[in-house]
Amino acid sequence: MNEFDVIIVGGGPAGLAAGLYAARMNLKAVLLDRGPVGGQLLNTELIEDYPGIASILGHELADKMADHAREFGLEIRDFQSVKEVDLVGDGPMKVVRTEDGAEMSAPAVIMAAGGLPRHIEVPGEEALAGRGVSYCAVCDGAFFREQVLAVVGGGDAALEEADFLTRYASKVYVIHRRATLRAQTILQDRARANAKIEFILDAQVEEIVGDGKVRAIRYRQGGASKELEVGGVFIFVGFLPNSGIVKPHLEHDDQGYLVTDRDTQTSLEGLWAVGDVRAQLTKQIATAVGDGTTAAVAASNYISMLRDRERVPQTH
Ligand code: NAP
Repeated sequence: MNEFDVIIVGGGPAGLAAGLYAARMNLKAVLLDRGPVGGQLLNTELIEDYPGIASILGHELADKMADHAREFGLEIRDFQSVKEVDLVGDGPMKVVRTEDGAEMSAPAVIMAAGGLPRHIEVPGEEALAGRGVSYCAVCDGAFFREQVLAVVGGGDAALEEADFLTRYASKVYVIHRRATLRAQTILQDRARANAKIEFILDAQVEEIVGDGKVRAIRYRQGGASKELEVGGVFIFVGFLPNSGIVKPHLEHDDQGYLVTDRDTQTSLEGLWAVGDVRAQLTKQIATAVGDGTTAAVAASNYISMLRDRERVPQTH
């Protein structure tokens, strides 16, 4: 079994920041990601809200963060899906097992596994996924040039992505289940100022209609069932944290986000949760990076404390 000081699960900004700090503090650290590293950065076209960087493409920032962490000695293993985090061993060591049979152990594990978009669970959504139903405007928007699109949701993501989709679409209808939008005022103002965006409020989506590809969306509004012809449906109704592999053993909120203390440590000693998998106010790159930094420093202090007690051997 491979022994490390710190195992980081997930390679978005939170995990990469944790990896950079851990490696820079001379800890033997490995980061595992089930896909390419970058997390949600890879689903974001342009980033304009990361302090000090006026504008950068999402995948460019992902590459920069990964290269930076590697330079300080972080081992990054991409396309390695974690199957199990065994937290109930003897003493402080935790064992992480991947789908392809690798096994590694460390006293400190940092969960940075992010999450996945929530589904609306209506007929047609699953069958037409990838055939006009999408959860990523940056990935799929360009396939819908000059088409009429529906965006489902009323939060920040829905409005931001609706605005982005008007680069390609001739028209974007934002369909939201309540009369009031949840999104920040600045995003609401921007969407309202965009002539290509129209709101359909107080409307519950009932079905996504199509045969092989999306043709229309059906919704209920004011007691009547209505159908709107669209070429694509983009769904932004929130996020499900990837906490499943550790959740049964840890304190979490009713949506599955892991509850942590001030230092991002979960209810289990030696296990930290950072970024979008952690219960907190917002999901921003800056907060994810802050979380990762805090966790790495806390993990380093924890390992020093264990070494002082001579319970954990030096790995290198
Ligand atoms: P969100 O804020 O949770 O909003 C989800 C939206 O989807 C809500 O309007 C909700 O309606 C609606 N919804 C939920 N389940 C639904 C269902 N089954 N059917 C129809 N509608 C449903 O999620 P988000 O927009 O993905 O944002 C997540 C987090 O990321 C937030 O903290 C947000 O601030 C942050 N974010 C920030 C930015 C930015 O700052 N630029 C951009 C994107 C995301 P109700 O309003 O009725 O509950």
